[in-house]
Amino acid sequence: MLSTMQDGQLSLAQLLRHGTTLHADAKVTTWTEEGPRYTSFGELGGEAAKLANALRSLGVTGDQRVGTFMWNNAEHLAAYLAVPAMGAVLHTLNIRLFPDQLTYVANHAEDQVVLVDATLVPLFGKVLGQLSTVRHVIVVNGDAAALSAPEGVQVHDYAQLLAAQPAEFDWPELDERSAAAMCYTSGTTGNPKGVVYSHRSIWLHSMQVCMSDSMRLSQADNALAIVPMFHAMSWGLPYAALMVGASLLMPDRFLQPQPLLAMIERERPSFAAAVPTIWQGVLAQLEASPQDISSLREVVVGGSACPPDMMHTFEENYGVPILHAWGMTETSPLGSVARAPGNATAEHAWQYRYSQGRFPASVRARLVDDNGTEVRWDGTSVGELEVAGPWIAGAYYRPEAEDAAKFDNGWLRTGDVGQITPDGFLRLTDRSKDIIKSGGEWISSVELENQVMAHPAVAEAAVIGIPDEKWDERPLVAVVIREGAEVTAAELREFLDGKVARWQLPESWTFIDEVPKTSVGKFDKKRLRSAHTEGKLD
Ligand code: ADP
Repeated sequence: MLSTMQDGQLSLAQLLRHGTTLHADAKVTTWTEEGPRYTSFGELGGEAAKLANALRSLGVTGDQRVGTFMWNNAEHLAAYLAVPAMGAVLHTLNIRLFPDQLTYVANHAEDQVVLVDATLVPLFGKVLGQLSTVRHVIVVNGDAAALSAPEGVQVHDYAQLLAAQPAEFDWPELDERSAAAMCYTSGTTGNPKGVVYSHRSIWLHSMQVCMSDSMRLSQADNALAIVPMFHAMSWGLPYAALMVGASLLMPDRFLQPQPLLAMIERERPSFAAAVPTIWQGVLAQLEASPQDISSLREVVVGGSACPPDMMHTFEENYGVPILHAWGMTETSPLGSVARAPGNATAEHAWQYRYSQGRFPASVRARLVDDNGTEVRWDGTSVGELEVAGPWIAGAYYRPEAEDAAKFDNGWLRTGDVGQITPDGFLRLTDRSKDIIKSGGEWISSVELENQVMAHPAVAEAAVIGIPDEKWDERPLVAVVIREGAEVTAAELREFLDGKVARWQLPESWTFIDEVPKTSVGKFDKKRLRSAHTEGKLD
């Protein structure tokens, strides 16, 4: 029997119409050298129409790809609106990729047009000659003449190009299953992998972001989107904000702790999102010179495990709760959110909050052991996490043969290893490639890092497995000492004693100036491992 319900398409054209009219007053603030620059969803609706007209005038039709090489700012948001709503596909290029990876992803996606922030022109100029499908480059907020283009590529100035266009566009009816946007994973192994989101997946994911037990985004919020718009769509914040009329605070290129704190004090966001390394920096700055962050009702931390110690410092010293969440580019990215159940005791609540969180109704999860057998959700059995659902990737774009291994009969293999409690809370031990296998037992590099980072003299600590004749592998801890502090390896080892099993206590320690970071700000253990192999870590 068929339902009697209408079959409206969940399209970003509708989201654009809704957000830019019903929530026309929601504010979009972009941070600049001179301070804040303001616009609104209403004004951005007009700008998006102009941009869509401009892109059509440059020949963008059908599902052609339009790339962005931009910071988080109002113009990037205009592209987020215009490109999918006109039926084209938004490709957010990661500005921190190495040139050969950037070239690979732009060519692989066959980007036709790329919008580039003027401050990123020197970086983009280095690869433009290798981009085989790009015909037009639109330079945003700056001097287009600074970009010298190879033959066959036209360079335009964003403001001039849009000035000539009408502020209305006949947004087409779109199939909700068609491609809306794409994002490449940062590719810890092999080439980056393309994930293509549909209108429907983005719509459903946006609803999830707003749900009360999720990020709770609402019209009352002003959300500071620190996580880049090229990193898993800024964790869904832009589209979710449009859905409910939350204002957005965009830090542009001012991602250092000092300007971040300045914008928090001045613009008083109620919510913020970023990876742990950003918050570590913010905390260090706060300790050095206190500033008012009391406007934040909550900050969401994900992308890598949030050290429990950081959660306590934020909440107990600054009154700001951290909400821990897990996800991947392949999962749009929201996969699970760590909100303690209402009936948890205070002490239990922390255990829930340290975890990677509980799965929402739309995300199915299972744990699978090395033999491919499902393991129980008993909070202790360990397996690789596999997930499925309407905003989880079922394949990569134009996959390579090896990519098939990432999918298991309709399930995405996450490469993350951990446990699930009977009530559906995920506790990740590690990424499978980072787990240290010592004498037939596993050591969680994340667990060791969290314990070491709880020492007051430690700013950052990253743990990798290094080869060992007797045990196969043993942990090596790379420590960054807090400015002005002093600590020895023996003291740190003693600090760990009693906190982790004795046999896990690391005997190898090295002190470094900074933990290398990936293009999205996570500890880059691949680089640490090669530094060790090359003898540069001793
Ligand atoms: P990349 O693979 O380049 O880091 P992603 O941002 O897609 O790009 O990374 C997803 C991975 O990040 C997950 O598979 C997981 O290993 C890690 N991750 C994300 N959130 C968390 C978290 N809360 N705790 C631990 N690991 C996390």
